[in-house]
Amino acid sequence: MPTEVRRVTDSIVCLRRASYLTCSYIVRTSNGLVLIDAGMDSDGADVHAGLREMNAIPNELRAILLTHWHNDHAAGAHALHALTGTPVYYHRGDEPFYTGHAGATGLRRWLSDKIPEWGVLVLAKGLLGEATPRAVVAQHFVEDGEIILDQFEVITTPGHTPGHVCYFYRPARALFAGDALAVIDDHIRFMARPVTPDIHKARASLEKCLALNPTVICPGHREPMTTNVEAACDAMRSYLKSGGPWPFFG
Ligand SMILES: [Zn+2]
Repeated sequence: MPTEVRRVTDSIVCLRRASYLTCSYIVRTSNGLVLIDAGMDSDGADVHAGLREMNAIPNELRAILLTHWHNDHAAGAHALHALTGTPVYYHRGDEPFYTGHAGATGLRRWLSDKIPEWGVLVLAKGLLGEATPRAVVAQHFVEDGEIILDQFEVITTPGHTPGHVCYFYRPARALFAGDALAVIDDHIRFMARPVTPDIHKARASLEKCLALNPTVICPGHREPMTTNVEAACDAMRSYLKSGGPWPFFG
């Protein structure tokens, strides 16, 4: 299924696979192109589609910033790094999954290898195998509060995975949220509980994201949010403050 390529702002492009609505992003910065998450296809096909749309070539990439190891977000990183040498950034907390050291063996591994990279099966493939299909090695481990390429602030946001991070692109006040939150029908929502192993940490992570007062939210699935973001953040802040529960379906 083809990759949808959509402009979010003048400098941000969203790459989305219709089969699972996973979003990766390319940002045109004053330091070159920066990729946030690497698509669902382990050949990097989603990212190549985005680069073509931007009339850019893979060697213009300056950094591959990964939010977490799930292979609907990280699958293409191995191929893109191998092709261009672009450094890969992620948090050490997810390293065993990115590299496959935590990965399943035997029948589970065999089954995982057989699952095609299509739709929700991509996530199933990763969860069953407990690893991205092609090992992704970091050139740089990110830390909370660190600023990458003078523009992307690292926000550690564990909960969905142990080493989940968000990236806050300061020039556009854009939050690349990965799976720390969901955007559904112009509202900020939780991720579903079954894919949030630590909801206590995830709740604190969500509060941390909202405290940034973003003007654009680029989540890991569905739709980027570019209008009424302040009101949406206020609504979720109030819900969290009221002690509202984490709904099963997010
Ligand atoms: Zn995920």
